[in-house]
Amino acid sequence: MLRKEELPPGFDSGSTFTSVCINTSLYLPYLVSQCLKNGVVFERRILDHVSVAKSLHHSGDSADVVVNCTGISARKLGGVMDQNMMPARGQTVLVRNTADVMCDVLGIETGDEEVCYVMQRAAGGGTLLGGSYQKGNWDSQVDPNLAIRIMKRAIDVCPSLTGGKGIEHLSVIRQGVGLRPIRTNGTRLEKEKIDGAWVVHNYGHGGYGYQSSYGCSQAALKLIEDACRIRSRL
Ligand SMILES: Cc1cc2nc3c(=O)[nH]c(=O)nc-3n(C[C@H](O)[C@H](O)[C@H](O)COP(=O)(O)OP(=O)(O)OC[C@H]3O[C@@H](n4cnc5c(N)ncnc54)[C@H](O)[C@@H]3O)c2cc1C
Repeated sequence: MLRKEELPPGFDSGSTFTSVCINTSLYLPYLVSQCLKNGVVFERRILDHVSVAKSLHHSGDSADVVVNCTGISARKLGGVMDQNMMPARGQTVLVRNTADVMCDVLGIETGDEEVCYVMQRAAGGGTLLGGSYQKGNWDSQVDPNLAIRIMKRAIDVCPSLTGGKGIEHLSVIRQGVGLRPIRTNGTRLEKEKIDGAWVVHNYGHGGYGYQSSYGCSQAALKLIEDACRIRSRL
């Protein structure tokens, strides 16, 4: 726990811990390269119905199992149409400035829809200032007023970002909006037979898709193995 004199003004309590911060712009290409190394064949397409996927295996044979990882689009994908899926809009500002700490603030004065975090990405990836958690909001455009609130909160909690100066001393790389794929009943990890073929669903990871990815993919793998076993007994 932080001592009272260590807290920034306006804070009731705080704690410190060590953790992992993923620079996703490096991590995602790394994952693609691992897949390629292991013989995965990629093809870019938009599917209207989940059943179409089984006929797209690169060997020309019908796929044994289809894995559905369509995120927020599981809401409108034919054969799935999961109305429990909805977005939690997250707006961010990526800056060149660096801070002496990373932080995550709970309990913002404007309510549950706005949050405050400062995360420094490894290997010169900039510092990510966040953010928002706006349930049911599909707007993909940056809200400039929210961006100003995000930057102000970030320098209040981490004055080292600008050496104690105002937000005009933040050097903005880009602003971003992402839609977290949240699901009212939690992540969907189950197998289902659709149009005679096994589909393993693995979507609805909300704001924790990276954190939960190892566990969820292990669980999905088990479901794939189950489906293959059932299929080979038939
Ligand atoms: C601001 C913000 C902050 C976040 N912070 C964190 C964090 O700190 N930690 C964390 O773990 N997570 C965080 N997340 C959440 C994380 O980004 C998501 O949980 C994760 O990206 C979901 O991955 P996914 O592969 O399930 O879905 P997606 O990344 O949405 O991938 C779905 C894929 O399916 C494809 N697809 C969909 N429909 C079709 C179709 N019909 N035909 C063909 N292809 C289709 C899409 O093109 C896409 O490639 C954050 C998200 C945001 C927006």
